[in-house]
Amino acid sequence: MGRESYFDHAATTPLDSAVFAAMRPWMEDEFANANSIHSAGLKARAAVDTARTQVAVALGVDPDEIVFTSGATEANNWVANAFERVRVSPIEHSSLWERLKGGAYAWDQCNEPEISCCMAVNNETGGRYRHATVGTEKWHCDLTQAVGKIPIELGFEFASFSAHKFYGPKGVGALYAKDARFPLPLLIGGEHEMGHRAGTLNVGAIVGMGEAISRAIASQEEDFEHAMALRNAVKEELSVLSDWQENGLGAFPAADKLSPFILNVSFLEVEGEATVIGLDHAGFAISSGAACSSWSNEPSHVLTALGLPIEWLRGSIRISFGRSNTVESARSLAKNLILVVENLRKLV
Ligand code: PMP
Repeated sequence: MGRESYFDHAATTPLDSAVFAAMRPWMEDEFANANSIHSAGLKARAAVDTARTQVAVALGVDPDEIVFTSGATEANNWVANAFERVRVSPIEHSSLWERLKGGAYAWDQCNEPEISCCMAVNNETGGRYRHATVGTEKWHCDLTQAVGKIPIELGFEFASFSAHKFYGPKGVGALYAKDARFPLPLLIGGEHEMGHRAGTLNVGAIVGMGEAISRAIASQEEDFEHAMALRNAVKEELSVLSDWQENGLGAFPAADKLSPFILNVSFLEVEGEATVIGLDHAGFAISSGAACSSWSNEPSHVLTALGLPIEWLRGSIRISFGRSNTVESARSLAKNLILVVENLRKLV
């Protein structure tokens, strides 16, 4: 499969080769521990600090408001575990939503939350959400599908994100905390990250995250326009097909609008998984929902929360766009999608 046929960028993006080139020295020759006090260690620490500044500049915050983590999952868990009265929106990523089983509160069941969690862009539908950042309420915002894609204004207490969603490496992300008021550490055992998070720093990956976020912000407008053109091309081709719908708006919490990077559609009388497999055979990678739950048979908690009836829920797929896709490849994806859906419908 060529890169242009990969339409699963919400699951992960390929590592930018310029980012890899920046990371490489820190994984080969400059391998010292960033917490060591010898000069090689100090050099590694300086590289981490540069990356922290790159992340901070990209988000318009102070470097000491950023702590590197293993990704958005850890950052989300960190916040959700630090408070007793955590209010979670029904469309959160599983790294927050699963906390509903372990003590967090559903949105309508918590009147005086210590912290409310609502993401900026939903990873399944691309629905964009605004936050009521006025008043006494404190917010945590999962920015994973927003960074490098849409303009962000950080008015929240906390925010999380992962480098591999903006062409950086996997296994590295960050938690932002307003005025550097981080929650008590989730990981304990060492004095790394100003005492906020234990564990030897993955210097190469952190350097990659800094490089990737700078590049993503620099090309954000271009990437946005490109995604819009790709999304429109797919929708235009699909218009000849019957019994399909676009998902993402409506119900609670009401999305303002949709991110162009994600297109979630449902087809009546087909299973989403069968469509994904059919397209895979045709050489295209898409998804039937969040990659983190693609092996589960449960219907998507996000689409369920948006009020989708079961007959539409079962046939949902997610197409997510990125730099390597072309309008031509998007049209070809849509034409193959139509064939797959028509063939599957013949089996009913
Ligand atoms: N939040 C959202 C909205 C996501 O899309 C993802 C990744 N699918 C995560 C959190 C978790 O990111 P990671 O797996 O990199 O920790």
